[in-house]
Amino acid sequence: MRITFLGTGTSHGVPMIGCDCATCRSSDPRDARLRPSIFVETDATKILVDTGPDLRAQALRHDIRRVDAILFTHGHADHILGLDDVRRFNAMMKRTMICYGDTQTLRDVRKTFHYVFDPNAPKGGGIPDIELCEMTERLRIGDLDVQPIPLWHGSRPILGFRFGAFAYLTDCNRLDDAAWPLLEGLDVVVIDALRVRSHPTHFSLDEAVAVASRLQAGRTFFTHMCHDLAHEATNARLPQGMALAYDGLVLDVP
Ligand SMILES: [Zn+2]
Ligand SMILES: [Zn+2]
Ligand SMILES: [Zn+2]
Repeated sequence: MRITFLGTGTSHGVPMIGCDCATCRSSDPRDARLRPSIFVETDATKILVDTGPDLRAQALRHDIRRVDAILFTHGHADHILGLDDVRRFNAMMKRTMICYGDTQTLRDVRKTFHYVFDPNAPKGGGIPDIELCEMTERLRIGDLDVQPIPLWHGSRPILGFRFGAFAYLTDCNRLDDAAWPLLEGLDVVVIDALRVRSHPTHFSLDEAVAVASRLQAGRTFFTHMCHDLAHEATNARLPQGMALAYDGLVLDVP
């Protein structure tokens, strides 16, 4: 199984519009972060997690031509606003795109993309062909088992996902009690770490490190970083086995 980080930035992206800070002006390509998303693939199965506003650029950069299913973590703008670009996958694959999410997320997607789900909207090339499926338990997509992981994003319950020995836990500031037993024996875990200062809906870096220490995965990567966290300087002070992810990072997980 191969994981590609399509984007590792917070909702503003890095650089942020109109910011002259050292991270936003950095020449280190690892400091340039598109909105958060990952691509999970085996030879037989290709899964996209979230469709942020940078989906088109991400698909072009990584030459993604096939997506068998989309998993939504939640319905915030930085995770769904690229959904309209699914039209290209509909055209290339000649089929409906199946999208999984929890009840609230599917509600958010229907509301944000009302024209897609309006039976009176004129059909044609201008509208993505999408089927929304509620995800409440473990499911099989192609040759991948997908286990939803209950997370808290402030007061809002959202989903993380586990695929074999890999788990992706973005946009959270607390793991649900039910999540811990589902996260045993991981080779790689990815955890939200917005910045150094605390935040009401995201883990700070210290909080994310504490969760990682308790999970004891083989390797830990952090994502959803804002410009407060410069790549190299932050990595230098992280415990062994932990690092910031960056756009374009590819991991092979057995
Ligand atoms: Zn900045
Ligand atoms: Zn969010
Ligand atoms: Zn987010």
